[in-house]
Amino acid sequence: MKMANFYPGPSRVYSHITEYIYEAYMDGVMSANHRSELFMDLMVKTKSTLSEKLCIPEGYELVFTSSATECWEIIAQSLTQKGSQHFYNGSFGEKWASYSSALVPTTNVHFGINEVLPTGDVSEDVDVLCVTHNETSNATIVRQESLQMLREENLGKLIAVDATSSLGGVKLDFTLADVWYASVQKCLGLPAGMGVMILSPKAQEVAYNIGEGNRYNSLVRILDNAKKHQTVYTPNVLSIYLLMRTQKASKGIDYIAEKLSRRLVQYEELISSKAGVSHLVENEAVRSSTVLALKVDDPEVLKSQAEEYGIILGNGYGPWKPSTIRIANFPAIKSREVEKLIGFLDKHL
Ligand SMILES: *Cc1c(COP(=O)(O)O)cnc(C)c1O
Repeated sequence: MKMANFYPGPSRVYSHITEYIYEAYMDGVMSANHRSELFMDLMVKTKSTLSEKLCIPEGYELVFTSSATECWEIIAQSLTQKGSQHFYNGSFGEKWASYSSALVPTTNVHFGINEVLPTGDVSEDVDVLCVTHNETSNATIVRQESLQMLREENLGKLIAVDATSSLGGVKLDFTLADVWYASVQKCLGLPAGMGVMILSPKAQEVAYNIGEGNRYNSLVRILDNAKKHQTVYTPNVLSIYLLMRTQKASKGIDYIAEKLSRRLVQYEELISSKAGVSHLVENEAVRSSTVLALKVDDPEVLKSQAEEYGIILGNGYGPWKPSTIRIANFPAIKSREVEKLIGFLDKHL
């Protein structure tokens, strides 16, 4: 890898990927039929490995989609009857609300980037609450306490969580929501092109009660296949294999979360010692641990200086583009790459 890539998605992939691709080729996985024993065994292994490494509770079902974006539609089509309520403070949460609003009635609760999730504002007329756990565009996170409060106050409703840039990097308490999903090109450190969806027993029950079956990606269809360790359509079997292999090699989410918080401390030391940089998010309590959004004097100049140094920094996103850079704090990034970035920032900020 010539460049140290800190883009928060698509992002640096795990460095053993080339070996795993070779293994997949040698084992015949790449051309496996998705109704074959070989494939079903891979599915069983992938589900059990992820459940073990990410601490997914018993009874939760894991299914594959093409992307996080597809999950937005699946939730609206297959799990929403009355309507969904969207809590957001940035671009991804807003996009989710907009995709849903094309399909079902939606209510939106917009909150500021320094505020905790306003859990008190729940509408009676909705059955699904939609939360972006880690808002990749502005580097905010929803605190576990907020999810807990939302859960306790809304036991009759489903809670769906976009964990695209935190699943695999943050220890999630899956019992606090019913639908969790992510694409693989962020914290999971894989090439883009697949989504993972994790469904609570209640979410599965609701999907079957609604029974929406009009689409190729209707959730009942996906779940029926998942129970047989199969998929509706011919899936991205290489990506499933790479997910299984990288997670099998992982030391588990506790170890990873600890590693990422140690790196955050390193970044923090640097940021607090420099006048030319500050966090976009001032409230530490809602600051992401997997994505940093930093206000700097001239993001364009800094990014091009970094490139000459062999470092790719992330652009700011949406309204924050002209004033910020983003840095991924994802597990696949190497410690020596973090050292290199800190050395660079120390010189140039
Ligand atoms: C990247 C991202 C998405 C979109 O992912 P796709 O794979 O392009 O569908 C959705 N939500 C969040 C929070 C993201 O960071």
